[in-house]
Amino acid sequence: MLEPPDQKGRSLDELALGEASGIEALPKRVNRYGDAKRRALEVAKYIGEQPGEDVLSRRVSGCGEYLLFRHYFTVDQVRLHEAYLCTKHLLCPLCAIRRGARALQAYLPRYEAVCELQPLLRPFLMTLTVKDGADLQERFDHLHKSQRELWKRKQRGRGSVLDGVRAAVWSYEVKRGKGSGLWHPHLHMVAMAEHQPDAVQLANEWQSITGDSFIVDVRAIDQADPASGFLEVFKYALKFSDMEPEDTFHAYQVLKGRRLVSSAGLFRGIEIPETLTDEPLDDLPYVELFYRYFEGGYSLQRGMGQRPIEASEATGNRGRGTRPGNSQSNQRSDFQRVAGACRVLDPWRTS
Ligand SMILES: [Zn+2]
Repeated sequence: MLEPPDQKGRSLDELALGEASGIEALPKRVNRYGDAKRRALEVAKYIGEQPGEDVLSRRVSGCGEYLLFRHYFTVDQVRLHEAYLCTKHLLCPLCAIRRGARALQAYLPRYEAVCELQPLLRPFLMTLTVKDGADLQERFDHLHKSQRELWKRKQRGRGSVLDGVRAAVWSYEVKRGKGSGLWHPHLHMVAMAEHQPDAVQLANEWQSITGDSFIVDVRAIDQADPASGFLEVFKYALKFSDMEPEDTFHAYQVLKGRRLVSSAGLFRGIEIPETLTDEPLDDLPYVELFYRYFEGGYSLQRGMGQRPIEASEATGNRGRGTRPGNSQSNQRSDFQRVAGACRVLDPWRTS
C-alpha cells in the first residue's frame, strides 16, 4: 500500500486503485509486488514444511507468477488485468495488497455519495485496542465481542460515544505488541459524523466494555485526502514484514473464515469484490505489459503484448467472456494468448 506522502494530489479515482496508477509509477508498483511475492514465498516454504499442507503451500507459492497490466495510454492508467492470485490474503502479502486496493475501490464511491448527500458529515479515524495477550484466539474474540457491545450501546439509545456516527467501516489487524511480544489485535475504523467523537468518552466507554483497555485514538481525516484514512483501514490485516512465517501461519489458522472488514450505517451492505484484478476500462485503447517473476523480482517480458490495441478491437473481444467480471480462474485463454509461444511457467499446472 502507499505511504501517506504518495497519496497527496491524487484523485480519488487514482487512489481507488489503491496504488499509483500511471505508467511512470508502474516500476515502483511492480517492485512492491515483487517484495510481496518474495515474502509470500517465505511463508509458502514454511507452510510446505507442515504436515498435510502441500496444496496450500503450492497455491501460495504459485501466486503472482506473472502479471499482465494494461496501460490505457490515452488516460495514463495502468490496471492489473490478469494474474494467477492465490486469494489467501492472510498468508500472501501480494493478495493482501490487491484486496486492500479492491476494498478501497468499493468504499470510495459510497464515501463520495455520502459526502454529497450529507455534506455536514466529516470522516474520522478511530482505533480501538485490547490488552496484549498470549492467546490470539482469545484476544481476537475479546476485541470482536467488545466492538459488538459498543455498537449495541448506540442501538440501545442510552447514550454512547458513537451516537453521532452515521457511517462506519472498520477492519481488524493483528500483530505482535512491540514491547510485550504478545498478540496485539486492534481495529481501525473510518467513522463519519458531524462532530469528532470525544476521545476521553470513548476511552471510558471502551474501558467499561473491555475491562482491560482504555487505549483508543480518534483523529480527523484530512478531507482533501480522505483515502489516507481508508487506506489505514484497508491495509494488511497482518503486518507481514514484522512477522515470522510461523506467526503468519498461526494467525491465518485462527482468523481464516472470520469477517475482518465490517460496516455500519450508511456504509452498510458494501461488498468487497472477490476478484483481485482491476476492472478494465472499456472502449479505450491500451498496451499490454507482461511481467514474470523470476529469481527474486518481476521483469518485463519484452516483445510480448506491447502492441497498441485499438478500442474497437478491445471491444470486439468482449464476446469471449474474458472482460469485465472475469475471475482469476477463467482467464487462461488470455494468458495463453499473451504468453504465446514463450515458455512461461503455467500457473494452472496441477503437479
Ligand atoms: Zn496470493
